[in-house]
Amino acid sequence: LLQLSAPLNLLGMMYREIKQAFTNLERLFGLLDERMDVQDRSDAVPLRAERPSLRFEDVRFGYDPRREILRGISFEVPRGGTVAVVGHSGSGKSTLARLLYRFYDVDAGRIAVEDADGAVRDLRDVTQASLRQAIAIVPQDTVLFNDTIHYNILYGRPDASREEVEAAAKAAHIHDRILAFPDGYDTEVGERGLKLSGGEKQRVAIARALLKNPAILIFDEATSALDSKSEQAIQAELDRIAEGRTTIVIAHRLSTVMNADEILVMDQGRIVERGRHGELLAHGGHYAQMWALQQQDSNEGA
Ligand code: ADP
Ligand code: MG
Repeated sequence: LLQLSAPLNLLGMMYREIKQAFTNLERLFGLLDERMDVQDRSDAVPLRAERPSLRFEDVRFGYDPRREILRGISFEVPRGGTVAVVGHSGSGKSTLARLLYRFYDVDAGRIAVEDADGAVRDLRDVTQASLRQAIAIVPQDTVLFNDTIHYNILYGRPDASREEVEAAAKAAHIHDRILAFPDGYDTEVGERGLKLSGGEKQRVAIARALLKNPAILIFDEATSALDSKSEQAIQAELDRIAEGRTTIVIAHRLSTVMNADEILVMDQGRIVERGRHGELLAHGGHYAQMWALQQQDSNEGA
């Protein structure tokens, strides 16, 4: 019995670790209780995604076939360009990110990536591993693993060296803060360890994304939990990371999308307005109204 208990303990430990990892991954994308039934095609090819462009072509999608969430979405993110998506909560913005990461397949239309060689590929024709390697998401609520801070950043690219992890942390302006923790990079964080503030977690997520060095970046309301001063500081970093990468910025605060190549305003699964910041203000529609409301709020807050 004694001989058996060691391996059983080990198994128990492994089980808990694996369960924890999955829980975190699911929570990360709000996919709890969802089946992930997207499969690679037998002839799927790896995506070569240096400086890709992205196209949503009349995409329709519903989590449940009885309720369509995206109702014909078309837009393009040029190579190295930035498209911003704004709109009320529930309008379908995060769903765009989930489809791009291919947690689900579209019901109609397609999402295509033009790869390094100029070949246009439907997401359904490339391997999921290569697709997910090409994309990093900085989500609204960063979920940390119950592990060391080093592990949490390393997750972005598990084969990275210690030096690369620290370089990413420096670039995300969290290195000095980490060194101030009791065990530095080996400090345990998460539910069972040291609790990080919202801003610190966000910076860990940014370091993770930087380490991954992805061709495609998605910020899903990445700064919405921060006060506007921290937001400004982090926004500058996000702009820097996005430089030269193909980027989708889903934003709650419009101040963060002013410089996008195109801004899409979504409402109930449709794009109801699109254009650059100045054009949308001049148009005097939804966006102009949202902008006016936010200016009012920030004046009252000051
Ligand atoms: P946004 O990011 O704009 O707030 P989402 O894309 O998250 O909106 O959600 C769009 C709609 O899809 C919402 O009505 C939401 O309730 C629904 N939805 C989101 N995720 C799921 C899911 N996993 N299963 C079923 N419905 C979902
Ligand atoms: Mg969302």
